[in-house]
Amino acid sequence: MNAKSQSRLIELRRDLHERPEIGWREFYTTGRIVEELEAIGPDELYVGREVHREERLRPPTDDQLESARERARETGVDENVLSKVEDGYTGALAVLRKGEGPTVLLRVDIDGLPQSESDDPDHLPAVEGFGSRYEERMHACGHDAHAAIGVGVLEAVKESDFAGTFKVLFQPAEELGAGAASVVGSGHLEDVDSLLAVHVGLDVETGVVYPGIESFLAVNGFEATFEGSPAHAGNSPHEGANAVQALSTAVGNLYAIPRHGDGATRINVGEIEGGTATNIVPESASLRGEVRGTTTELREYVADHAERTLRSAAELHGCDVDVEFGDGTPSCECDDALVDVVSAAASGHDTTVTPDEGDALGGSEDATRLMRAVQRNGGDATYVGFGSSNPTGHHTATFDVDEAVIPLAVDVLTDAIRSVSTAE
Ligand SMILES: [Zn+2]
Repeated sequence: MNAKSQSRLIELRRDLHERPEIGWREFYTTGRIVEELEAIGPDELYVGREVHREERLRPPTDDQLESARERARETGVDENVLSKVEDGYTGALAVLRKGEGPTVLLRVDIDGLPQSESDDPDHLPAVEGFGSRYEERMHACGHDAHAAIGVGVLEAVKESDFAGTFKVLFQPAEELGAGAASVVGSGHLEDVDSLLAVHVGLDVETGVVYPGIESFLAVNGFEATFEGSPAHAGNSPHEGANAVQALSTAVGNLYAIPRHGDGATRINVGEIEGGTATNIVPESASLRGEVRGTTTELREYVADHAERTLRSAAELHGCDVDVEFGDGTPSCECDDALVDVVSAAASGHDTTVTPDEGDALGGSEDATRLMRAVQRNGGDATYVGFGSSNPTGHHTATFDVDEAVIPLAVDVLTDAIRSVSTAE
């Protein structure tokens, strides 16, 4: 790609990096992306609510929306865009109609994380003056670079010989495991023949390309609330039913769920709460955790065991328990034909194409919902990873991407998308 577009994309990435926003509250982010998209001039542009169906996962509270709106206004968001996203349906979808041919969708995510960014003098964003302006807000997963890549590919495909329909989805709320779910059923996926989702970083150096990542773990969250009965801890402990005791029994046994011979599983209890005073047998206690598996079936195996463990622990201590699982994200499979197209495109550039990503990724991704939806309709999907020499791991305060990945990813993805149209 030419130097001018390249420096514009890096400028965009840095601007977003400096103003990270949490899922469903990407107001400035959406506004800034829309500004870039309008300059390119897609044939159709959908913003905010127009990208999603109404029911969505983990919506923000009114207070969260209010303070995010205020911050976006202070930052200088386009009021026109704000009016389309202010209820918390964020993100955008640009469409190019370039005649007869397949429909290809590129999905990038755009949200930041609720953590503070390092101001260490070795941390490049701090040195160059584009570190996060906000406490407890950071682009610590590279979604700022993803947004820039999405804009770059749209422009490059527009100027190319691609024939067909090309869409770029700037998806919100990936870190909440929520943003993809309401795009499914929005009407924007039904005609998609090929879907490419993308991630940079991945703790490998710039130039490494994974054309088909399948090692994302299926994940689901759960919450359990134990209800016992209170009593004086000194004179009548026998009359109480101790909810904290039931919870503790459950936690120990959740980690004792047997491993499964078919693949990796995970369980974690990440938050607990309970009791009111040292001299009262605690009446209620709650925990929040998550289960994962290399396949959706393995995740369900852990979930079933976890539910039985929670119920048994409650019964053992004479308590009741309410167990609720959320709407998790599934595992995924990439389609060989599309993986081959991406491999061939990457081989034409200064890259090391690595077909097997091992199981180094260990995380989860809600793009798997979009992939499954497209595959259910008979389309192909793949998840492409671009290494980007990150100094420290994802979701850490000193995470950063090597910006050289932006033009490289734009070039490789554009070539892959052009090949899809000529292969039809
Ligand atoms: Zn990410």
